[in-house]
Amino acid sequence: MPVAIVTGASRGIGAGIARRLVAEGCDVACVARTLAEGDSHLDGSLQRTVDRLTEAGGRAHAVVADLSAPDFDAHGLVCEVEIVLGPVDYLVNNAAAAFYPSYLETPRKRMEVSFRVNVVAPWLLAQAVLPGMIERGTGSVLNLTSQTAIMPPGPPFKVAPQIGGATSYGGSKAWLERATVGAAAELYGTGVSLNCLSPDTSVITEGSDALVDLSAYPNEPVDTMAEAAWALLTGDPEEFTGRVEYALSLLHRLQRPVMRLDGSGLLEGWQPHEFDTAYLIAPGGDRP
Ligand code: NAP
Repeated sequence: MPVAIVTGASRGIGAGIARRLVAEGCDVACVARTLAEGDSHLDGSLQRTVDRLTEAGGRAHAVVADLSAPDFDAHGLVCEVEIVLGPVDYLVNNAAAAFYPSYLETPRKRMEVSFRVNVVAPWLLAQAVLPGMIERGTGSVLNLTSQTAIMPPGPPFKVAPQIGGATSYGGSKAWLERATVGAAAELYGTGVSLNCLSPDTSVITEGSDALVDLSAYPNEPVDTMAEAAWALLTGDPEEFTGRVEYALSLLHRLQRPVMRLDGSGLLEGWQPHEFDTAYLIAPGGDRP
């Protein structure tokens, strides 16, 4: 069985990707801070995700870790997963710290937490799994990023009222994208891939819903993110590496059927020919 680590799997997109990975036959280590329901002000917990994965017939393991901790031990985490589940084939760096204060009002602590969770932890976790992947000649790292990484167009500038310039969040995701492509270039030809994935629109999750009102914006389901994630994790590493992809755009370009999270069949209403192409983002960040 392939083994995957998914960070931020206590809820939202991470829990969805973990579910899809189990449907594809993977054993999954789920990482987050919230072990039990009620430990966070948001719905979702590692226990709930692991129970669902186990009920679905998968093998899952909860790892409680705070990725913002200055002493976060990525090697220790990967060792624990390898002892319990085996060598890691897929790493999905999905956890994120998202805050949208204005640039001038962003406290140093918030900026540093964004950077630790969104940049430092993915970097350290990838460094911990990549040597084993390279030795085995196979494996993939997927970093979840965001269209806020794209430079705001201007001048003149017009920022969205709810997220402003998304300076700490978008800035950290831009850094993550650049580091991913650089690492992919260095490791090209080893059989290992590193890619980035973001939604083309937004995904209503426990976290995003608590942060901004997304009801007025176009959105897409977790299932399309999970389909695109699986496409990138299992794509030919000669072709699918060093990419900064947007889920709907990738699936549309590949004309790839979209499965439900539980792998039980096609997701109604969300097949590539049904996408609203007005919202698709080209690789590199241009809307057609
Ligand atoms: P979410 O619902 O807020 O979930 C975030 C996950 O990250 C939770 O499982 C949370 O678990 C974990 N996490 C946060 N801080 C952590 C920390 N310090 N240590 C360990 N785990 C931590 O987020 P989402 O909407 O599913 O987003 C998932 C990914 O997609 C993120 O990378 C985000 O940037 C990206 N994305 C989402 C959207 C969207 O519209 N939703 C758009 C663009 C990009 P605990 O609280 O239990 O620790």
